[in-house]
Amino acid sequence: MIIIMSPTATRENLKKVQDKIVSMGLTYHMSKGASRTIVGVIGDKKVISSLQMKAFDGVEKTVQITEKYKLVSREFKPNDSVVNVGGVLVGGGNLAVMAGPCAVESMEQLLEAAECVKAGGANFLRGGAFKPRTSPYDFQGLAEQGLKMLKEAGEKTGLKVVTEIVDVNAVDLVCKYADVLQVGARNMQNFELLKAVGRSQKPVLLKRGLSATISEWLNAAEYILSEGNYNVILCERGIRTYETFTRNTLDLSAVAAVKELSHLPVIVDPSHGTGRWQMVRPMARAAIAAGADGLMIEVHPHPEIALSDGDQSLTPENFQSVMDEVHKIAKAMESK
Ligand code: PEP
Ligand code: MN
Repeated sequence: MIIIMSPTATRENLKKVQDKIVSMGLTYHMSKGASRTIVGVIGDKKVISSLQMKAFDGVEKTVQITEKYKLVSREFKPNDSVVNVGGVLVGGGNLAVMAGPCAVESMEQLLEAAECVKAGGANFLRGGAFKPRTSPYDFQGLAEQGLKMLKEAGEKTGLKVVTEIVDVNAVDLVCKYADVLQVGARNMQNFELLKAVGRSQKPVLLKRGLSATISEWLNAAEYILSEGNYNVILCERGIRTYETFTRNTLDLSAVAAVKELSHLPVIVDPSHGTGRWQMVRPMARAAIAAGADGLMIEVHPHPEIALSDGDQSLTPENFQSVMDEVHKIAKAMESK
């Protein structure tokens, strides 16, 4: 249930509502807007449905939520959330561009990629140090050595670092080097990992699972918020369908769906979403036009020798020209 307090509700009114919730053995999360406070009630469903909150002074209305997720919902927080990554804002009309190689391969490769994505207008450097590969014989990443390189390249270029975490025991380690923890598609329903990143206060980039519905994806985000970490950015990266021409089917309608259902920022990854570098440009343009808050794009100084995902990686030149177009579309969207 969510309880919407009226604009004239006093602090005492709110306190009485909170006390009642706690006295019933339930917990609450607060969302304070410019004119209204919204209280999300969490706990036993039966107890919640017996709550008679409308009789309390200062309560404007109560809404029973049919979906299981609450904290990520628009009902709970009507205004768009903006995630602040050390001064770089994601959401709320700011264009976030996370770009870089699929995997960190060497300092030289990473720095070259970082400098070119910075020049193209990216504000985040992406790169995997722990790679969840389909085959155990494929390159698995440079682990902590890769994290160190990311931090160094981030500091040298002024880019924020986003990198994937695959192990629940590695939260402290990855937090030491990264500005954003990425939970990948394969781990979207790794609930222990979601809870662990939720207990950290680092911003989290939550990719949509390979076969996840939008509801499952938002419930995964709910795990993170329910642990107290509200700094979540969603990322649509394509889903599994019967189509084989593309690696995945990029579901741009998910951007519009998420904007309707949730206040969280959502970005789009046209690289994994299509698996083909030729399709990154049109899908990046479309993502921004559809209302996405940003993009994640794989860029490699030499895609033909990349240790992973070379087929979907842009060259520095192509990245630059894709970004020129994306910036034009973002600007047109602002003046709509
Ligand atoms: C990645 O971004 O490096 C990655 C592995 O993506 P996904 O989890 O979407 O497959
Ligand atoms: Mn990749």
